[in-house]
Amino acid sequence: MLWCYCVEHRHLPDRGLRPRISTFGKGIIMLAAKNNYNASIEEKSKLYPYFDIKLDSFCVQDADYRGDADATAEQQLQARTFTVEEKRYILQTMDLVRFTLNSPEFYDRLTNLSHTLNLTRTGSGELGSNYYGQAADLDRIMDMIKIGHYGLIIRKMADSSGAIARGDLGPFIYHDPIKIYNPDRRTRIHFPNHVKQTSRHQVNLGSTILHESMHNFGFTHDNTVPNSIPYGVQPVFEAVARQIYNGELRAQEYEAFKGYHEEKYSEWLLADTLALTARIASPDAQYDSHEYFESMGMIE
Ligand SMILES: [Zn+2]
Repeated sequence: MLWCYCVEHRHLPDRGLRPRISTFGKGIIMLAAKNNYNASIEEKSKLYPYFDIKLDSFCVQDADYRGDADATAEQQLQARTFTVEEKRYILQTMDLVRFTLNSPEFYDRLTNLSHTLNLTRTGSGELGSNYYGQAADLDRIMDMIKIGHYGLIIRKMADSSGAIARGDLGPFIYHDPIKIYNPDRRTRIHFPNHVKQTSRHQVNLGSTILHESMHNFGFTHDNTVPNSIPYGVQPVFEAVARQIYNGELRAQEYEAFKGYHEEKYSEWLLADTLALTARIASPDAQYDSHEYFESMGMIE
């Protein structure tokens, strides 16, 4: 697994948080979007087929608050709970990630970069082999994003390193990109307890999810080779996703697509997901957080 310390770019301009659509324009969009709100999950899947990652579950694991021995009861509770609010925000962010990766603007920007993105693992397969530091074929990267399909677990866990997130490192299948389609595979993205997802800008969180997904895809980074795949795709994503988020690009389509992951994974929004103990026994179990901690005598 790879911890990533500097994935998030915290210097997004404030304008990202302000509506950029005129009242008149907004009305048009809402009308148009309303006509598409009835689009089914299946229809949306067909319209935006790339990066069809299946969310297997949310879980909290190893949730003891080791990062701070003086953690308050409230902090400990927060560390043990993946709240509905946090889960909903991640699902909404997944909308932005999938929609952005399906846009022709993302494809154009990625495949027309003026610099190379470089591989930091060696490997070989059906399509040949590569040497350490070799420039990647960006069309092949895009192909992997298109056909990527596997089960993903979003996990919240204890960490005191200050890392933003980490992703399980997948097999290096760059030379057999079709292998990225593997419904039987399970991989994970981990968020430290102290990261409050709902306080982060959605473009940044989406960018982090994409970075960690590139680890799931089998790509790494190190301090020697510049412009790795995980870091290199982030500014491309952010440039397009920010325009989409701000309503400057494909606003009507995006409004119509929103809600895809919330509807698809609505069962995860019925209750908070809790760690039962510091060393969790059943990471995927869902319990009502207040009742559980009340029963344990941890809250009034
Ligand atoms: Zn990383």
